[in-house]
Amino acid sequence: MEGEPRASRSLNPVHPHVSQDPQRIGSATRMPGEIDKPLISHHLVDSDGSLAEPPVGALKVGILGSGDFARSLATRLVGSGFSVVVGSRNPKRTAGLFPSSAQVTFQEEAVTSPGIIFVAVFREHYSSLCGLSDQLAGKILVDVSNPTEQEHLRHLESNAEYLASLFPTCTVVKAFNVISAWTLQAGPRDGNRQVPICSDQPEAKRTISEMVHAMGFMPLDMGSLVSAREVEAMPLHLLPAWKVPALLALGLFVCFFAYNFTRDVLQPYVQEGKNKFYKLPVSVVNTTLPCVAYVLLSLVYLPGVLAATLQLRRGTKYHRFPDWLDHWLQHRKQIGLLSFFCAALHALYSFCLPLRRSHRYDLVNLAVKQMLTNKSHLWVEEEVWRMEIYLSLGVLALGTLSLLAITSLPSIANSLNWREFSFVQSTLGFVALVLSTLHTLTYGWTRAFEESRYKFYLPPTFTLTLLVPCVIILAKGLFLLPCFSRRLTKIRRGWEKDGAVKFTLPADSILAEKTSHV
Ligand code: NAP
Repeated sequence: MEGEPRASRSLNPVHPHVSQDPQRIGSATRMPGEIDKPLISHHLVDSDGSLAEPPVGALKVGILGSGDFARSLATRLVGSGFSVVVGSRNPKRTAGLFPSSAQVTFQEEAVTSPGIIFVAVFREHYSSLCGLSDQLAGKILVDVSNPTEQEHLRHLESNAEYLASLFPTCTVVKAFNVISAWTLQAGPRDGNRQVPICSDQPEAKRTISEMVHAMGFMPLDMGSLVSAREVEAMPLHLLPAWKVPALLALGLFVCFFAYNFTRDVLQPYVQEGKNKFYKLPVSVVNTTLPCVAYVLLSLVYLPGVLAATLQLRRGTKYHRFPDWLDHWLQHRKQIGLLSFFCAALHALYSFCLPLRRSHRYDLVNLAVKQMLTNKSHLWVEEEVWRMEIYLSLGVLALGTLSLLAITSLPSIANSLNWREFSFVQSTLGFVALVLSTLHTLTYGWTRAFEESRYKFYLPPTFTLTLLVPCVIILAKGLFLLPCFSRRLTKIRRGWEKDGAVKFTLPADSILAEKTSHV
């Protein structure tokens, strides 16, 4: 084939040289699961610790650029059994920074023999490489570049497509941009393993995929070069799925903190002249965190209730939910994890409460007061029971929430089947909500009915937090009634009120219900 990259011939899947001479491309023969290898193979390291010469006949790979990425890449390639030649504008200055077995030379010389050339320079310098067009013709150029956010917005064409337009006689493959120079050096165990790859030439893509394997990473086929823009945007994302949930949690925290501050600090200061500002760092934070955790947990289950209500009203599941509800449903995992985070912090803060100096002074003062009033035995049976039950329910709720958090880890979630996963997330999640509600109710006890608890006419904070969870628990109870549950089950199995899909439920409708979810 005209212009077929040389390297793709030598790394063909049925590579004769791979089976005949395994040393030839070193770890290039390794399978995807074998990435727990040391960064540098033992036979490639000299007795003095430096990188030894590559094996005879090792595949030669070129790198243009001698910066941070080029250095890490060269080290990794040499360690994986490749022969490396680096092209620099000033090889004398940079040669000492590379492994001794890598050849560092001028750009023109470096690109002469290898069939695969990594372009480790920034986009704005691509055009300075145009003088190498003739030597590069027919070769694979691997674009490893990452645009900045502004560059990504400014250029409609990806860096890889731009490189391809400058070198039409080359095959451009986008790869390695999501791997940092640090990960390349430290090895895949210390960072991201996946390497998204895209190119218009399947053969070149396969060649680079094999190199990725050989270097201990996992190639991920992203299709043709038009996907390069998407691949280049990957390192620019900053926890996109967490933005809204984190803002929601922060917003709730600020609101509840302000509310608790007004009730617990401002009111005593204004109305009684008491300085309770010392409560801000621990006490007020610790009254705010459970409110946030509890409301967030209820917000995990509210969209499911809204979705079920919509389906019941519309009599079909084939109408799209409004966008806001769709987004909300998609963010439930993150909201749940943030709820767990706040609950765990609440538990830690609660453990620290007795360590505070203010608490010790309060205890001593109480004891002295007892002595003065000649009351030697303080024991309120109702309070004792309330506290025991309250604490126990709190620990149980946190334990159940921990299970939810653990099962949302991809490695654990992957080991569960759909029914197990939905049992934990749906049923156990709802149990956690009920336990948290009981925990809140035992905390509140009769306080909602005591006039003295209404500071500045503001009701105790826990009464506010109970609102949404109680609506959810009530709605879930209603959906269990046969008139609603049968209709919901039918709808989720495809039945439509006014549509063509009509059927009667199978006798074992309970099983049908268990396999159908919002
Ligand atoms: P760097 O340290 O600044 O190195 C860039 C290299 O480009 C220079 O060392 C220079 O080598 C070479 N170059 C060639 N022509 C040039 C010119 N006309 N003007 C200036 N320099 C020229 O940058 P880097 O961190 O290695 O990044 C290189 C590429 O890798 C970038 O596209 C970056 O987006 C990508 N990348 C980097 C990382 C990372 O962690 N650093 C991760 C993923 C992707 P000579 O002077 O020897 O010619």
